[in-house]
Amino acid sequence: MTDRKKLTTSAGNPVADNQNSITAGERGPVLLQDYQLIEKLAHQNRERIPERPVHAKGWGAYGTFTVTNDISRYSKAKIFSEVGKKTDMIARFSTVAGELGAADAERDVRGFSLKFYTEEGNWDLVGNNTPVFFVRDPYKFPDFIHTQKRHPKTNLRSPTAMWDFWSLSPESLHQVTILMSDRGLPVGVRNVNGYGSHTYSMISADKKRVWVKFHFKTMQGHKHWTNAEAAEMVGQSRETTQEDLFGAIEKGDFPKWQVFIQVMPEEDVGKTWYNPFDLTKVWPHGDYPLIEVGELELNRNPENYFAEIEQAAFAPSNIVPGIGFSPDKMLQARIFSYADAHRYRLGTHYEALPVNRPRSEVNHYHKDGPMRFFDNNATNPDAYYEPNSFNGPVESPDFAEPPLAISGDADRYNHRDGNDDYKQPGDLFRLMNSEQQGRLMDNMAAAMGGVPKEIIKRQILHLLRADPAYGHGVAERTGVDISDLAEAAQ
Ligand code: NDP
Repeated sequence: MTDRKKLTTSAGNPVADNQNSITAGERGPVLLQDYQLIEKLAHQNRERIPERPVHAKGWGAYGTFTVTNDISRYSKAKIFSEVGKKTDMIARFSTVAGELGAADAERDVRGFSLKFYTEEGNWDLVGNNTPVFFVRDPYKFPDFIHTQKRHPKTNLRSPTAMWDFWSLSPESLHQVTILMSDRGLPVGVRNVNGYGSHTYSMISADKKRVWVKFHFKTMQGHKHWTNAEAAEMVGQSRETTQEDLFGAIEKGDFPKWQVFIQVMPEEDVGKTWYNPFDLTKVWPHGDYPLIEVGELELNRNPENYFAEIEQAAFAPSNIVPGIGFSPDKMLQARIFSYADAHRYRLGTHYEALPVNRPRSEVNHYHKDGPMRFFDNNATNPDAYYEPNSFNGPVESPDFAEPPLAISGDADRYNHRDGNDDYKQPGDLFRLMNSEQQGRLMDNMAAAMGGVPKEIIKRQILHLLRADPAYGHGVAERTGVDISDLAEAAQ
């Protein structure tokens, strides 16, 4: 007992009694001088930070990325510089719609966020377990998310809002098809693929740009639950993914993903039938085959969930030399909004928190604000602005990307004009076997429970355009008469 540490206040003062508050007499009121009581209550009031409006419920772990194939001809990023090279990283997975206390086994997209602590600063790839998304224009993103969250009056989730929005936004059909398919309800995040989803760029040492997509293929195999299995699981445990991921890593069964890229030459833009920067489209593997890059392994659980997972801040704005952005409109918006969300949730200096702090040197001229707990960045304290004559950090023109030759008149271009939103959802439907197709249509019909018939009918029209069997199958299951839709479906 004698070698136990002394309990202290947060200022380090020893605490004499942590059981009884100070009162005036045995039954009397408590005294304001009982600082330890006040500190405990005040801290408890401050134990929560705003939860993420999306992707609130999450699970994460640390790991290692290992290069297994040389892609340095595409990217000068040091993380890819030699086969066998290892880089520390952290991953956070999540559902999208549920709040912090939501059950894990829900039909929803899974966030798949990675932060690589490279020697050139942090590279964050903030993707999903799906290669596409529901919308392609960020103007629609807040509206879409409102349909996934609670109704303002009932405070319940609203299938009517979801299908109303989706049926009025045909670009969502690809992602809706994935969500309603087997892969929309994974057993855990060890059993999902990850995708960077957006198109990014890679820049080579000789300043050549290519467009890339990132793919992470699960080496644990795909495993999913039916709706009925998930309902039973939720009855037993709301934390099935946390139990699965944390438990596997604790016992040394480290989950792994094979990492690939697809590469599109810069000059191919304009030659494909789809816009390669459209987040609702994939690049068919037949046109742009997967190129092996490496392996991702998660091998260490965090010591403190709040400090290391709740406060982990991933932002697509974090890129390293050799990896760049693309004109994808959704990516462009996320470059702003993720960092902004962290400034709001965690505070101005969130990048200095241990889990977010780059393992490389950080030199900037941002100054003060709440929780400024890092040192001056310059060796000379007079160098606190830029330019300066006191040997402060300076820019590195060598890192400039080659110019991007894309321009046009500023306007609000209709993103639905001339866009085929049906081919790729149809391709996905056709690559499923008849059992998978059956479950997809069962899940969709179940999700439409209570939705007005005219909204269901509007959605079925999109399904018919993707594949007639898809539309007819959901019509049968929902009992909606679509005899007048044949002509419109052409
Ligand atoms: P391929 O036949 O080359 O590949 C099919 C892809 O579909 C594989 O990546 C497979 O993942 C994935 N897949 C299988 N079942 C599902 C499902 N229920 N939900 C989501 N993905 C699934 O096809 P193409 O490249 O020619 O594309 C055809 C269609 O496949 C696309 O329209 C798209 O819907 C889907 N797809 C394509 C991807 C791409 O990047 N090209 C990526 C993911 C899906 P796995 O290998 O892990 O089994």
